[in-house]
Amino acid sequence: MRCELAVVGAGVAGACAAHAAATRGVKVLLLEKEALPRYKLCGGAVTRKTLELLAGEGIRLPRRLFHEVRRVRVKIPGAERELRVPENSILTTYRDILDHALVREAERAGAEVLEKARVKEVRRGQGCWRVSTTRGEVEARFLLGCDGVSSVVRRSLFGWRFPPDELGVAAEYEVEGLSLDAMEIHFGHASFSYAWAFPKREGATIGVAELASRLEEGIFDRLERFAATLPYLRSTPKPRSHPIPMGGIRRRVALGEAALAGDAAGFVEPLSGEGTYYAALSGIMAGKLVGRVLEGREENLLAYQRFCDSQLLPQLRAMLYLGRLFYFKPDFSYHLFENTDVLIGVIAALAGGEPPPRLLLRQAILTSLRHLPGYLARKLSR
Ligand SMILES: Cc1cc2nc3c(=O)[nH]c(=O)nc-3n(C[C@H](O)[C@H](O)[C@H](O)COP(=O)(O)OP(=O)(O)OC[C@H]3O[C@@H](n4cnc5c(N)ncnc54)[C@H](O)[C@@H]3O)c2cc1C
Repeated sequence: MRCELAVVGAGVAGACAAHAAATRGVKVLLLEKEALPRYKLCGGAVTRKTLELLAGEGIRLPRRLFHEVRRVRVKIPGAERELRVPENSILTTYRDILDHALVREAERAGAEVLEKARVKEVRRGQGCWRVSTTRGEVEARFLLGCDGVSSVVRRSLFGWRFPPDELGVAAEYEVEGLSLDAMEIHFGHASFSYAWAFPKREGATIGVAELASRLEEGIFDRLERFAATLPYLRSTPKPRSHPIPMGGIRRRVALGEAALAGDAAGFVEPLSGEGTYYAALSGIMAGKLVGRVLEGREENLLAYQRFCDSQLLPQLRAMLYLGRLFYFKPDFSYHLFENTDVLIGVIAALAGGEPPPRLLLRQAILTSLRHLPGYLARKLSR
Protein backbone atom coordinates (compact mmCIF):
# COMPACT_ATOMS: atom_id res chain seq x y z
CA MET A 1 0.00 0.00 0.00
CA ARG A 2 1.22 3.48 -0.85
CA CYS A 3 0.13 6.88 0.39
CA GLU A 4 1.51 10.36 0.91
CA LEU A 5 0.85 10.35 4.65
CA ALA A 6 0.54 7.41 7.03
CA VAL A 7 -1.04 8.35 10.36
CA VAL A 8 -0.51 5.75 13.08
CA GLY A 9 -3.31 5.64 15.68
CA ALA A 10 -6.98 6.60 15.29
CA GLY A 11 -7.48 8.45 18.58
CA VAL A 12 -8.22 12.18 18.74
CA ALA A 13 -4.72 13.17 17.54
CA GLY A 14 -4.69 10.70 14.63
CA ALA A 15 -8.26 11.36 13.48
CA CYS A 16 -7.72 15.14 13.60
CA ALA A 17 -4.39 14.87 11.77
CA ALA A 18 -5.93 12.64 9.08
CA HIS A 19 -8.88 15.02 8.70
CA ALA A 20 -6.68 18.13 8.47
CA ALA A 21 -4.40 16.56 5.86
CA ALA A 22 -7.16 14.93 3.78
CA THR A 23 -9.12 18.20 3.71
CA ARG A 24 -6.06 19.74 2.07
CA GLY A 25 -5.94 17.08 -0.64
CA VAL A 26 -3.30 14.79 0.90
CA LYS A 27 -3.66 11.03 0.23
CA VAL A 28 -3.89 9.74 3.81
CA LEU A 29 -3.91 6.24 5.29
CA LEU A 30 -5.00 6.08 8.95
CA LEU A 31 -3.73 2.91 10.65
CA GLU A 32 -5.35 1.65 13.86
CA LYS A 33 -4.44 -1.50 15.76
CA GLU A 34 -7.92 -2.04 17.26
CA ALA A 35 -11.30 -2.66 15.66
CA LEU A 36 -13.24 0.62 15.59
CA PRO A 37 -14.85 2.07 17.63
CA ARG A 38 -12.20 1.19 20.19
CA TYR A 39 -12.35 1.69 23.98
CA LYS A 40 -10.05 4.31 25.53
CA LEU A 41 -9.79 4.78 29.29
CA CYS A 42 -10.47 8.47 29.89
CA GLY A 43 -12.46 10.83 32.12
CA GLY A 44 -13.93 12.05 28.86
CA ALA A 45 -14.05 15.72 29.90
CA VAL A 46 -14.00 17.93 26.83
CA THR A 47 -13.65 21.70 27.15
CA ARG A 48 -15.26 24.44 25.07
CA LYS A 49 -11.95 25.38 23.50
CA THR A 50 -11.69 21.85 22.07
CA LEU A 51 -15.09 22.06 20.41
CA GLU A 52 -14.26 25.54 19.09
CA LEU A 53 -10.99 24.22 17.67
CA LEU A 54 -12.81 21.37 15.91
CA ALA A 55 -15.51 23.73 14.63
CA GLY A 56 -12.75 25.87 13.12
CA GLU A 57 -11.79 22.79 11.09
CA GLY A 58 -15.39 22.31 9.96
CA ILE A 59 -16.06 19.50 12.45
CA ARG A 60 -19.35 20.05 14.29
CA LEU A 61 -20.10 17.14 16.61
CA PRO A 62 -23.75 16.44 17.54
CA ARG A 63 -24.77 17.41 21.08
CA ARG A 64 -26.17 13.95 21.73
CA LEU A 65 -22.58 12.68 22.05
CA PHE A 66 -22.12 14.76 25.20
CA HIS A 67 -23.36 15.33 28.72
CA GLU A 68 -23.18 18.95 29.88
CA VAL A 69 -21.54 19.76 33.23
CA ARG A 70 -23.09 22.76 35.02
CA ARG A 71 -21.41 22.48 38.42
CA VAL A 72 -17.91 21.60 39.58
CA ARG A 73 -17.43 20.60 43.20
CA VAL A 74 -13.87 20.80 44.49
CA LYS A 75 -13.09 18.89 47.66
CA ILE A 76 -9.98 19.38 49.73
CA PRO A 77 -9.32 17.76 53.13
CA GLY A 78 -11.71 19.54 55.48
CA ALA A 79 -13.35 21.88 52.97
CA GLU A 80 -15.48 22.00 49.87
CA ARG A 81 -16.18 24.67 47.23
CA GLU A 82 -18.65 24.68 44.41
CA LEU A 83 -18.48 26.56 41.13
CA ARG A 84 -21.23 27.10 38.63
CA VAL A 85 -19.89 26.53 35.15
CA PRO A 86 -20.99 28.75 32.26
CA GLU A 87 -23.14 27.01 29.66
CA ASN A 88 -21.31 24.75 27.18
CA SER A 89 -17.96 25.13 28.96
CA ILE A 90 -17.34 21.56 30.09
CA LEU A 91 -18.89 18.50 28.49
CA THR A 92 -18.23 14.83 29.08
CA THR A 93 -18.32 11.99 26.62
CA TYR A 94 -17.17 8.43 26.02
CA ARG A 95 -13.96 8.28 24.05
CA ASP A 96 -14.97 5.36 21.84
CA ILE A 97 -17.91 7.48 20.64
CA LEU A 98 -16.00 10.77 20.30
CA ASP A 99 -12.96 9.29 18.58
CA HIS A 100 -15.10 7.26 16.19
CA ALA A 101 -17.07 10.37 15.21
CA LEU A 102 -13.74 12.09 14.43
CA VAL A 103 -12.52 9.11 12.39
CA ARG A 104 -15.75 9.27 10.37
CA GLU A 105 -15.07 12.98 9.70
CA ALA A 106 -11.58 12.09 8.49
CA GLU A 107 -13.08 9.43 6.18
CA ARG A 108 -15.60 11.92 4.84
CA ALA A 109 -12.70 14.27 4.09
CA GLY A 110 -11.10 11.50 2.00
CA ALA A 111 -8.77 9.63 4.39
CA GLU A 112 -8.62 5.85 4.07
CA VAL A 113 -8.90 3.96 7.37
CA LEU A 114 -7.29 0.59 8.00
CA GLU A 115 -8.39 -0.92 11.31
CA LYS A 116 -6.92 -3.99 13.07
CA ALA A 117 -3.61 -2.92 11.52
CA ARG A 118 -1.03 -2.80 14.29
CA VAL A 119 2.18 -1.06 13.32
CA LYS A 120 5.05 -3.31 14.32
CA GLU A 121 8.04 -1.40 13.01
CA VAL A 122 9.00 1.67 10.99
CA ARG A 123 12.11 1.87 8.81
CA ARG A 124 13.56 4.41 6.44
CA GLY A 125 13.32 3.33 2.76
CA GLN A 126 14.40 5.23 -0.35
CA GLY A 127 12.63 8.58 -0.07
CA CYS A 128 9.85 7.03 2.01
CA TRP A 129 8.94 5.42 5.32
CA ARG A 130 8.36 1.67 5.32
CA VAL A 131 5.69 0.89 7.86
CA SER A 132 5.31 -2.76 8.72
CA THR A 133 1.79 -3.62 9.99
CA THR A 134 -0.16 -6.76 10.83
CA ARG A 135 -2.09 -6.12 7.60
CA GLY A 136 0.89 -5.66 5.29
CA GLU A 137 3.60 -3.16 4.39
CA VAL A 138 2.82 0.53 3.84
CA GLU A 139 5.03 3.05 2.02
CA ALA A 140 4.52 6.69 2.87
CA ARG A 141 6.44 9.89 2.24
CA PHE A 142 5.29 11.36 5.59
CA LEU A 143 4.58 9.64 8.88
CA LEU A 144 2.69 10.91 11.93
CA GLY A 145 2.95 9.00 15.17
CA CYS A 146 -0.40 9.53 16.93
CA ASP A 147 -0.19 6.16 18.61
CA GLY A 148 -0.51 7.21 22.21
CA VAL A 149 1.72 7.16 25.24
CA SER A 150 3.57 3.93 24.33
CA SER A 151 4.09 5.05 20.70
CA VAL A 152 5.93 2.61 18.46
CA VAL A 153 6.74 5.47 16.06
CA ARG A 154 8.46 7.37 18.87
CA ARG A 155 10.40 4.28 19.94
CA SER A 156 11.44 3.44 16.35
CA LEU A 157 12.39 6.92 15.13
CA PHE A 158 12.77 9.40 17.97
CA GLY A 159 14.62 7.31 20.52
CA TRP A 160 13.27 8.83 23.75
CA ARG A 161 10.88 7.61 26.43
CA PHE A 162 9.04 9.16 29.38
CA PRO A 163 11.05 8.80 32.61
CA PRO A 164 8.92 7.75 35.65
CA ASP A 165 8.79 11.33 37.01
CA GLU A 166 7.27 12.55 33.71
CA LEU A 167 4.67 9.82 33.47
CA GLY A 168 1.45 9.36 35.41
CA VAL A 169 -0.58 6.22 35.98
CA ALA A 170 -4.35 6.55 36.11
CA ALA A 171 -7.10 4.12 37.01
CA GLU A 172 -10.84 4.37 36.61
CA TYR A 173 -14.17 2.69 37.22
CA GLU A 174 -16.81 3.26 34.58
CA VAL A 175 -20.00 3.10 36.71
CA GLU A 176 -23.17 2.65 34.68
CA GLY A 177 -26.42 4.19 35.90
CA LEU A 178 -24.81 6.39 38.59
CA SER A 179 -26.21 9.92 38.38
CA LEU A 180 -24.09 12.78 39.76
CA ASP A 181 -25.28 16.40 40.00
CA ALA A 182 -21.75 17.84 39.63
CA MET A 183 -18.28 17.12 38.36
CA GLU A 184 -16.22 16.31 41.45
CA ILE A 185 -12.52 16.96 41.91
CA HIS A 186 -10.98 15.59 45.11
CA PHE A 187 -7.55 16.74 46.22
CA GLY A 188 -5.55 14.89 48.85
CA HIS A 189 -5.64 11.46 47.19
CA ALA A 190 -2.43 11.84 45.17
CA SER A 191 0.82 13.75 45.62
CA PHE A 192 0.87 15.24 42.11
CA SER A 193 -2.66 14.82 40.85
CA TYR A 194 -6.20 14.37 42.11
CA ALA A 195 -9.10 11.97 42.16
CA TRP A 196 -12.32 12.58 40.25
CA ALA A 197 -15.93 11.63 39.74
CA PHE A 198 -17.22 12.84 36.38
CA PRO A 199 -20.91 12.63 35.49
CA LYS A 200 -21.59 11.15 32.07
CA ARG A 201 -24.63 10.58 29.92
CA GLU A 202 -25.17 7.03 31.10
CA GLY A 203 -23.35 6.97 34.43
CA ALA A 204 -20.14 8.29 35.92
CA THR A 205 -16.39 7.79 35.70
CA ILE A 206 -14.53 7.54 39.00
CA GLY A 207 -10.76 7.77 38.83
CA VAL A 208 -7.43 8.72 40.33
CA ALA A 209 -3.99 9.45 38.87
CA GLU A 210 -0.52 9.66 40.34
CA LEU A 211 3.02 10.17 39.10
CA ALA A 212 4.61 6.77 38.42
CA SER A 213 7.69 7.77 40.45
CA ARG A 214 5.56 8.55 43.54
CA LEU A 215 3.36 5.51 43.47
CA GLU A 216 4.34 3.23 46.33
CA GLU A 217 1.27 1.00 46.16
CA GLY A 218 -0.71 -0.30 43.17
CA ILE A 219 -2.89 2.30 41.45
CA PHE A 220 -5.94 0.05 41.93
CA ASP A 221 -5.40 0.12 45.73
CA ARG A 222 -5.33 3.92 45.55
CA LEU A 223 -8.53 3.92 43.49
CA GLU A 224 -10.25 1.54 45.89
CA ARG A 225 -9.35 3.76 48.87
CA PHE A 226 -10.76 6.80 47.07
CA ALA A 227 -13.93 4.96 46.08
CA ALA A 228 -14.47 4.00 49.75
CA THR A 229 -14.80 7.73 50.59
CA LEU A 230 -17.71 8.24 48.16
CA PRO A 231 -20.99 7.73 50.05
CA TYR A 232 -23.03 7.29 46.85
CA LEU A 233 -20.90 4.47 45.48
CA ARG A 234 -22.42 1.14 46.54
CA SER A 235 -20.44 -1.27 44.37
CA THR A 236 -17.66 -0.91 41.84
CA PRO A 237 -17.06 -2.62 38.51
CA LYS A 238 -13.67 -3.94 37.41
CA PRO A 239 -11.11 -1.11 37.34
CA ARG A 240 -8.82 -0.36 34.41
CA SER A 241 -5.57 1.58 34.24
CA HIS A 242 -3.62 3.48 31.61
CA PRO A 243 -0.48 5.66 31.63
CA ILE A 244 -0.75 9.41 31.07
CA PRO A 245 2.25 11.52 30.05
CA MET A 246 3.16 14.85 31.60
CA GLY A 247 3.40 17.84 29.30
CA GLY A 248 5.41 21.03 29.66
CA ILE A 249 8.83 19.51 29.00
CA ARG A 250 10.61 20.19 25.71
CA ARG A 251 11.05 17.01 23.67
CA ARG A 252 11.91 16.25 20.05
CA VAL A 253 8.62 15.77 18.22
CA ALA A 254 9.54 16.41 14.57
CA LEU A 255 12.03 15.13 12.02
CA GLY A 256 12.06 16.30 8.41
CA GLU A 257 9.30 13.92 7.30
CA ALA A 258 7.88 12.47 10.52
CA ALA A 259 6.29 13.92 13.62
CA LEU A 260 4.55 12.95 16.86
CA ALA A 261 1.22 14.34 18.10
CA GLY A 262 -1.02 13.93 21.16
CA ASP A 263 0.07 11.56 23.94
CA ALA A 264 2.84 10.13 21.74
CA ALA A 265 4.49 13.57 22.01
CA GLY A 266 3.57 13.98 25.70
CA PHE A 267 1.08 16.82 25.16
CA VAL A 268 -1.04 16.54 28.30
CA GLU A 269 -1.69 19.51 30.55
CA PRO A 270 -0.01 18.48 33.83
CA LEU A 271 -2.31 20.09 36.40
CA SER A 272 -5.69 18.95 35.11
CA GLY A 273 -4.67 16.00 32.90
CA GLU A 274 -6.49 17.53 29.92
CA GLY A 275 -5.09 15.80 26.85
CA THR A 276 -7.93 15.79 24.34
CA TYR A 277 -7.55 19.46 23.42
CA TYR A 278 -3.78 19.18 22.92
CA ALA A 279 -4.16 15.94 20.95
CA ALA A 280 -6.62 17.68 18.61
CA LEU A 281 -4.48 20.82 18.30
CA SER A 282 -1.19 19.03 17.68
CA GLY A 283 -2.85 16.56 15.27
CA ILE A 284 -4.44 19.37 13.27
CA MET A 285 -1.19 21.35 13.11
CA ALA A 286 0.84 18.32 11.98
CA GLY A 287 -1.76 17.29 9.37
CA LYS A 288 -2.02 20.83 8.00
CA LEU A 289 1.74 21.11 7.75
CA VAL A 290 2.03 17.95 5.65
CA GLY A 291 -0.39 19.63 3.21
CA ARG A 292 1.73 22.77 3.14
CA VAL A 293 4.95 20.83 2.46
CA LEU A 294 3.29 18.96 -0.42
CA GLU A 295 2.06 22.28 -1.83
CA GLY A 296 5.66 23.55 -1.68
CA ARG A 297 4.79 26.25 0.87
CA GLU A 298 6.95 24.76 3.60
CA GLU A 299 10.21 22.86 3.29
CA ASN A 300 9.66 20.07 5.82
CA LEU A 301 7.98 19.19 9.11
CA LEU A 302 10.54 20.98 11.28
CA ALA A 303 8.15 23.95 11.37
CA TYR A 304 5.95 21.67 13.54
CA GLN A 305 8.70 21.49 16.18
CA ARG A 306 8.85 25.31 16.14
CA PHE A 307 5.06 25.54 16.51
CA CYS A 308 5.06 23.12 19.45
CA ASP A 309 7.97 24.88 21.17
CA SER A 310 6.53 28.37 20.74
CA GLN A 311 2.75 27.79 21.07
CA LEU A 312 2.08 24.57 22.96
CA LEU A 313 5.05 24.34 25.30
CA PRO A 314 4.59 27.72 27.08
CA GLN A 315 0.95 26.91 27.96
CA LEU A 316 1.79 23.42 29.18
CA ARG A 317 4.87 24.59 31.04
CA ALA A 318 2.93 27.32 32.89
CA MET A 319 0.46 24.65 34.08
CA LEU A 320 3.38 22.38 35.05
CA TYR A 321 4.86 25.14 37.24
CA LEU A 322 1.42 25.87 38.65
CA GLY A 323 1.10 22.16 39.45
CA ARG A 324 4.50 22.13 41.14
CA LEU A 325 3.55 25.20 43.17
CA PHE A 326 0.21 23.69 44.12
CA TYR A 327 1.37 20.19 45.00
CA PHE A 328 4.68 21.23 46.63
CA LYS A 329 3.03 22.09 49.95
CA PRO A 330 -0.56 20.90 49.73
CA ASP A 331 -1.56 22.29 53.14
CA PHE A 332 -0.43 25.77 52.02
CA SER A 333 -2.27 25.37 48.72
CA TYR A 334 -5.39 24.29 50.58
CA HIS A 335 -5.04 27.32 52.87
CA LEU A 336 -4.80 29.50 49.74
CA PHE A 337 -7.76 27.70 48.34
CA GLU A 338 -9.87 28.44 51.36
CA ASN A 339 -8.90 32.09 51.43
CA THR A 340 -8.63 33.18 47.82
CA ASP A 341 -10.11 32.43 44.49
CA VAL A 342 -6.89 31.24 42.86
CA LEU A 343 -7.92 27.65 42.57
CA ILE A 344 -11.41 28.57 41.52
CA GLY A 345 -9.54 30.47 38.78
CA VAL A 346 -7.77 27.23 37.86
CA ILE A 347 -11.09 25.43 37.53
CA ALA A 348 -12.61 28.34 35.61
CA ALA A 349 -9.60 28.34 33.30
CA LEU A 350 -10.10 24.66 32.65
CA ALA A 351 -13.79 25.18 32.08
CA GLY A 352 -13.65 28.10 29.73
CA GLY A 353 -10.05 28.35 28.63
CA GLU A 354 -9.71 31.70 30.45
CA PRO A 355 -7.58 33.13 32.00
CA PRO A 356 -4.64 31.86 29.93
CA PRO A 357 -2.20 29.58 31.81
CA ARG A 358 0.65 32.08 32.03
CA LEU A 359 -1.58 34.76 33.55
CA LEU A 360 -2.97 32.20 35.95
CA LEU A 361 0.54 31.21 37.02
CA ARG A 362 1.43 34.86 37.66
CA GLN A 363 -1.72 35.37 39.71
CA ALA A 364 -1.00 32.21 41.70
CA ILE A 365 2.58 33.28 42.48
CA LEU A 366 1.53 36.78 43.53
CA THR A 367 -1.31 35.46 45.69
CA SER A 368 0.98 32.85 47.28
CA LEU A 369 3.49 35.55 48.19
CA ARG A 370 0.75 37.74 49.65
CA HIS A 371 -0.64 34.93 51.78
CA LEU A 372 2.66 33.34 52.84
CA PRO A 373 3.27 35.56 55.93
CA GLY A 374 -0.26 34.94 57.26
CA TYR A 375 0.08 31.21 56.67
CA LEU A 376 3.47 31.05 58.42
CA ALA A 377 2.17 33.12 61.36
CA ARG A 378 -0.76 30.73 61.76
CA LYS A 379 1.52 27.71 61.58
CA LEU A 380 3.99 29.11 64.15
CA SER A 381 1.28 30.12 66.60
CA ARG A 382 -0.08 26.56 66.73
C1 LIG B 1 -7.60 7.65 33.10
C2 LIG B 1 -7.42 8.83 32.19
C3 LIG B 1 -8.34 9.87 32.26
C4 LIG B 1 -8.21 10.95 31.38
N1 LIG B 1 -9.17 11.94 31.43
C5 LIG B 1 -9.11 12.95 30.54
C6 LIG B 1 -10.17 13.89 30.48
O1 LIG B 1 -11.16 13.81 31.20
N2 LIG B 1 -10.07 14.89 29.57
C7 LIG B 1 -9.01 15.00 28.72
O2 LIG B 1 -8.95 15.96 27.93
N3 LIG B 1 -7.98 14.11 28.77
C8 LIG B 1 -8.03 13.08 29.63
N4 LIG B 1 -7.03 12.13 29.63
C9 LIG B 1 -5.94 12.24 28.65
C10 LIG B 1 -6.43 11.78 27.28
O3 LIG B 1 -7.08 10.53 27.39
C11 LIG B 1 -5.27 11.65 26.28
O4 LIG B 1 -4.44 12.77 26.39
C12 LIG B 1 -5.79 11.50 24.86
O5 LIG B 1 -6.47 10.27 24.73
C13 LIG B 1 -4.67 11.54 23.82
O6 LIG B 1 -5.19 11.19 22.56
P1 LIG B 1 -4.25 10.52 21.46
O7 LIG B 1 -5.06 10.47 20.22
O8 LIG B 1 -2.95 11.21 21.44
O9 LIG B 1 -3.94 9.06 22.00
P2 LIG B 1 -4.90 7.82 22.25
O10 LIG B 1 -6.26 8.26 22.57
O11 LIG B 1 -4.20 6.94 23.21
O12 LIG B 1 -4.96 7.11 20.81
C14 LIG B 1 -3.86 6.38 20.31
C15 LIG B 1 -4.40 5.39 19.30
O13 LIG B 1 -3.30 4.72 18.69
C16 LIG B 1 -3.60 3.34 18.59
N5 LIG B 1 -2.31 2.62 18.54
C17 LIG B 1 -1.40 2.48 19.53
N6 LIG B 1 -0.34 1.78 19.12
C18 LIG B 1 -0.58 1.45 17.82
C19 LIG B 1 0.14 0.71 16.85
N7 LIG B 1 1.34 0.16 17.13
N8 LIG B 1 -0.38 0.58 15.61
C20 LIG B 1 -1.60 1.14 15.31
N9 LIG B 1 -2.34 1.83 16.20
C21 LIG B 1 -1.83 1.99 17.44
C22 LIG B 1 -4.41 3.05 19.85
O14 LIG B 1 -5.18 1.86 19.74
C23 LIG B 1 -5.27 4.30 19.93
O15 LIG B 1 -6.46 4.16 19.21
C24 LIG B 1 -7.12 11.03 30.49
C25 LIG B 1 -6.18 9.99 30.44
C26 LIG B 1 -6.33 8.89 31.27
C27 LIG B 1 -5.34 7.77 31.20
